[in-house]
Amino acid sequence: MADVMTDVAGLRRQVRGRVVAEGDAGYDEARAVHNGMFDKRPLVVLHAETAADVVAGVNFARENGLDLAVRGGGHSAPGFGTTDGGVVIDLEPMHDVKVDTATQTADVGGGATLAQMNDGAHAFGLATTGGIISTTGVGGLTLGGGIGYLTRAFGLTIDNLRSADVVLADGTQVTASEREHPDLFWAIRGGGGNFGAVTSFKFQLHPVKEVFAGPIFYNLEDLPAVFRMFDEFITDAPEQFGGFPAIQIAPPLPFIPENRHGDPMALVVVHWAGPLDEAEAVLKPFREVAPIVADGAAALPYPALNGAFDAIFPKGIRAYWKAAFVKELPDEAIAIHKRFGATLPNVSSTMHLYPINGAAHRVDAGDTAFAYRDAKYGMVILSAGPDAEGDASRRQWVRDYYDALTPYSEPGGYINFMQDDDAGRVEDNYRQNFDRLVAVKRTYDPHNLFHLNQNIKP
Ligand SMILES: Cc1cc2nc3c(=O)[nH]c(=O)nc-3n(C[C@H](O)[C@H](O)[C@H](O)COP(=O)(O)OP(=O)(O)OC[C@H]3O[C@@H](n4cnc5c(N)ncnc54)[C@H](O)[C@@H]3O)c2cc1C
Repeated sequence: MADVMTDVAGLRRQVRGRVVAEGDAGYDEARAVHNGMFDKRPLVVLHAETAADVVAGVNFARENGLDLAVRGGGHSAPGFGTTDGGVVIDLEPMHDVKVDTATQTADVGGGATLAQMNDGAHAFGLATTGGIISTTGVGGLTLGGGIGYLTRAFGLTIDNLRSADVVLADGTQVTASEREHPDLFWAIRGGGGNFGAVTSFKFQLHPVKEVFAGPIFYNLEDLPAVFRMFDEFITDAPEQFGGFPAIQIAPPLPFIPENRHGDPMALVVVHWAGPLDEAEAVLKPFREVAPIVADGAAALPYPALNGAFDAIFPKGIRAYWKAAFVKELPDEAIAIHKRFGATLPNVSSTMHLYPINGAAHRVDAGDTAFAYRDAKYGMVILSAGPDAEGDASRRQWVRDYYDALTPYSEPGGYINFMQDDDAGRVEDNYRQNFDRLVAVKRTYDPHNLFHLNQNIKP
């Protein structure tokens, strides 16, 4: 240990970013990740400011035989952005977003959040596929695939990735693209953080400025009609439509009648990224399918909806997740959604069925590591709360719900919606792409330095 402590002093001298160790001011803040269930004590947290800092951190972990956690936004459900006794490379200071309007691309730092990426691109009337909570890291979201409101219009986030700068396990840095290290470029598009630390992403952007979007709440008894309509609608809906059906306890928001706050409800978050004057016509089926309890859909800037639900999942909330891909939504599955809708534990518990058809289906399953190009939905079930005492019952609700849906779900799920107890499903998540991922892992990280992820073992 004495040697490692000497090395920590050396690391501090070597890097530009702040190195925070046990006993230093700010240690508790530096070690915290989004999911409050993971309360770990790293040896050091390196707030990397440059790619050279990342190289130094990678070399430090490898040479000292220490566990290495690479943290983008810190949102990982299994708390992969922290580790006991090891090294955390926190990329948060590397969050610059530089837009090139001529090529409609953006260079986005490996530690940027979706808010930073969306705001940076929005200034130029541009956007690319991101997620639904603005504090999520671009890093982890992209490397796992990236599902969001624009998936049907422009594909997954990885379908918009043009290149990435990656620090490898041996401390070298490479650019991965279709032309340079194409095997690595293939693997990081869905293979998670298994292959290196990405210091910068280059994304294709698209003209998206104002959208018509927001949540529409229905009585839970109407869930079967709403979900059935959605499933039929989304099969061939215009690709600029990118919302999702869900279950949710009505939060105390001004547009929801006060006497309905706290009631479990069916919900569709609608999102229309086409011409605003076409929105009402496109959304007609949502207005007609059943009586509407509360309608929060309106014209708004693209980044706005991305921040609208942040308060439901604040940093430190204790969350448990389960996920599966879904190809069909039969009445039996819809009945299960209604049944579990009636027992939602709290306002931070939900199920979302994200459509991943449209443009995402036009990419072949072998073109990127993301294997389920034939799935219609990426489903996530999650329950979160502030208190440790509630962990067990919330976890049980998620597991019971997930188990009930097993006959109607695929064996694999989206790696970014999985918990630590899903490590055994990695092969299922990648199906026909798994062996190729193992081969790329052997080439770029044969000793599994980058293992705090849904791990692909070399
Ligand atoms: C409230 C909430 C809402 C979400 N909504 C969506 C959504 O709408 N769509 C969606 O697709 N996902 C969503 N997710 C899931 C999200 O994509 C994953 O949690 C993702 O892993 C978060 O990335 P991060 O960088 O914030 O997390 P981190 O915990 O920092 O990292 C997650 C994993 O990615 C690796 N990683 C992160 N950045 C880098 C990098 N630059 N280089 C190398 N490895 C890196 C880490 O090592 C770790 O293994 C949501 C998550 C939460 C908590």
